[in-house]
Amino acid sequence: MRKKIVAGNWKMNKTLREAMDFAVSFQERSDELPGDVEVIIAPPSLYLASMEMIKEPAYRLASQNCSHHSYGAFTGEISAAMLADMNVGYSLVGHSERRTYFHETDELLAKKLDACFLHGVVPVFCCGEHLAEREAKRHFVTVLHQLEHALFHLSPSQMSRVIIAYEPVWAIGTGVTASTEQAQEMHAFIRSSIAGHFGRETADAVRILYGGSVNASNSAELFGCDDVDGGLVGGASLKVGDFITIVQSASRG
Ligand code: PEP
Repeated sequence: MRKKIVAGNWKMNKTLREAMDFAVSFQERSDELPGDVEVIIAPPSLYLASMEMIKEPAYRLASQNCSHHSYGAFTGEISAAMLADMNVGYSLVGHSERRTYFHETDELLAKKLDACFLHGVVPVFCCGEHLAEREAKRHFVTVLHQLEHALFHLSPSQMSRVIIAYEPVWAIGTGVTASTEQAQEMHAFIRSSIAGHFGRETADAVRILYGGSVNASNSAELFGCDDVDGGLVGGASLKVGDFITIVQSASRG
């Protein structure tokens, strides 16, 4: 059975003090967390080292982005090699804000995935359609294109370790969520597309998270869908209480 994951994406929010207050308070309340859900937090990269120093943290850390290069003259970039060196085990790859504001293409994201695997960092690959694409009934074509161009060059063993976050762009930060039917339909489509290319065993192993205005009131319903293996949570991951409720709602127990 696939273990559920709840990942928090803090984006460009919180001061260092606020980040550490969250980390300490989350740790103090760790007995409220279910044992059958993996928790990942992606703070701004500047705070990764401090948050990594919390003793036996109840969360694992992700960066919000990484370079497709390992080292070198790439001012402002952070590599997967550096993340691995700092015990940061995960990196978001291809969040819609990176695609939109930093013009990241699936071809570039394919190289970032390779860099992650080269250095032992687990990629959380984000995909999803814009509103106009859904309205034109092109959402399946769009997502399939993203999967094919960014992921389908991987080996089955690499693919089985990728975490996919399906995040319809129209649902990110808008307060509008996909319905459970829309989420389940797309997650099942993603899984069957992976099965078609890599085989059923690989597809059954891949965790597919839903993202887009998940909050403490709607998470249980969304995470209850057969092919939804948890969530990638933006705004609602910034408050300890809400985030703990969302993590609890992913538990099967
Ligand atoms: C996100 O940033 O990935 C996200 C889903 O944001 P929000 O939960 O705020 O919509």
